[in-house]
This record gives sequence, structure tokens and C-alpha cells, in this order.
Amino acid sequence: MAGTNTTTIELLKKYDFPIQKKYGQNFLIDDNILNGIVNAAEVSEGDTVLEIGPGLGALTGALCRAASGGRVIAVEVDKMLIPILNETLQDYDNLTIINQDILKVDIGSLLQEGEKNIKVVANLPYYITTPVIMELLEHQSRIRSITVMIQKEVAERMQEGPGSKSYGALSLAVQFYSKPEYLMTVSRNCFLPRPEVDSAVIRLDIYNEEERPVQPRDPEQMFRIIRAAFNQRRKTLMNALSNAGLTGISKENVAEALQNMGISETVRGEALTLAQFAELSDRLLTPCADADGGFSDNKSLFR
Ligand code: SAM
Repeated sequence: MAGTNTTTIELLKKYDFPIQKKYGQNFLIDDNILNGIVNAAEVSEGDTVLEIGPGLGALTGALCRAASGGRVIAVEVDKMLIPILNETLQDYDNLTIINQDILKVDIGSLLQEGEKNIKVVANLPYYITTPVIMELLEHQSRIRSITVMIQKEVAERMQEGPGSKSYGALSLAVQFYSKPEYLMTVSRNCFLPRPEVDSAVIRLDIYNEEERPVQPRDPEQMFRIIRAAFNQRRKTLMNALSNAGLTGISKENVAEALQNMGISETVRGEALTLAQFAELSDRLLTPCADADGGFSDNKSLFR
């Protein structure tokens, strides 16, 4: 293969490395794709980069060079990889390697005071793609962009709207918090071991709050509603929401809100757009309209 990364293959042999399927270890062995990811992430001097799952360090060294003067924090769950990373990347003094599960670590605690505009870069293991991206988006205030290689179908799902089978909480979170850009499709042949599906690189550019496509008054409340709607996606929205145990939400007030929005009571959540979820959230947050037609602030209901 033209762009084969011999270093990764040599390292696997040299350390007789026991590849762990449970950690989604499919190592990238194509230099062209590797450089493509670093370029797509637009990492430049002085940046702070968070890499999830450095593996044998194929991307990590390139990120350390691109971010010189800044720093790279690489979080790897597999303790067997830590001595290999320490040895092969010992020349980079701007690298911090952390042996942790990214889903269990408080990302804020990895950052230094004042560090913001973080660029997250990862060849993500398939099994944690959705929870990692949801987590990053919901704590996105210090993040500038997220450039990830993920399963091709998941990258496509991120851009879906109502009417598609794969439209869901992930699509809505991605589209609310960021502008997604699908950058390239990557063949399964670029990995060792070879996975069963193709991958894609996607970059999510995080919006400033005022740039978001909709402005619900309480985004967390909107996502509680979205999650409840898609957790029981075969139920009507009214049943899914009233069964979810959300404070202050009953069949009656969901029915009333939907009626006021001109939407049938029998609608399922998967038929609603992001703008409709935002409106529904605001209406449920403030069931009583003020005399002037505005809505009174009833946020405490959901705290
Ligand atoms: N970055 C390397 C590359 O491109 O060749 C490895 C990518 S491999 C698809 C995913 C990496 O994530 C593996 O090194 C794996 O051990 C690591 N990993 C899996 N689950 C993780 C978790 N929960 N937290 C941190 N790292 C994890």
C-alpha cells in the first residue's frame, strides 16, 4: 500500500503486542490518512490538543510536532501501551500521557487554568464513539473543534434530519453544538487488524453560543427531552416523555404544547426537527404564558 506506516507494524512486532479487541484496537497503518487527519484538525503552533486513544502513537508524534509550543494530552486506557508510548515518544517534551478511561476522566481536570480552544483529535474506538462525542459536546465550553475518525455510518448519522432511521440524539447534539464537516471516507484496509466496516473523518467545529442554530432557554432541558424521546423511539412522543419521569412533564402538558405548535398528539420524536424540539422544550419549561403573550420563567420546575 502506497502510504503504509511501517512504524506501527514494526512496533506491534517489536513488542509482540497483544491487540485488545475489547478496546477497539484497530491501528491506523496508512501515512496519507494520518497526515490527512492532522491537516483536517487544523492543529497549529501553540494549540492544546486532546488525543483520545493514542494507541502506539501513530498520530501522537505528528500532533506534538504540529502543536509545538503548545501541548498534547493523550488519554489511553490500555496500560500495556503506556511504556511503549513513553519510549517511542520520549523526544516530545510537550506531551502528557495519561493512563485513564476517557469516559471516567473529568476532562476539565486534564486542562490547565486558562487553557481553552482545545482541539480534540482521535481515531476513536467504535465501541465508545457515541458516548464520547455526547460527553465532549455537552462539556464543550473549552473545546474549539473535534476531529475524529469513526465508523462511516455514524459520521453520516451525525448529519441526518427527521425521516431517516438513524436520526437520533447524537445527530441533534452534533447539529446543535457544532457545524459538522464530513472530510473523507477511509477504507477498512488502512487499519491493522482490519475492521469489518469502513470509516470516515469528520470535524465538528463548535459554535459560540450565539451561533447555534436554535436558542432554547435551557439546552440541558431540551436534551433531557430529546434523550427521553429517542430512548423509546417507537412510542408516541407524548407517551415517551410522560413515562420518562421528567419533573413537571405530564401527558396533558405535552399534548397541549404539541397542539399549540400545530403538531399531532400521535407524533413520534423522530419526526421532530431540532427547531421543534427547542420550541417544545421552551413550552414545557414555561407552561403558563404571560399576559403579553411571552412566557413566564418557570425553570425551577426542572431543577
Ligand atoms: N490512535 C491509534 C491509531 O490511530 O492507530 C489507535 C486507535 S484505536 C482505533 C483506539 C485506541 O483507543 C486504542 O489505543 C485503545 O486502547 C484506546 N481506547 C479504547 N477505549 C478507550 C477509553 N475508554 N479511553 C481511552 N482510550 C481508549
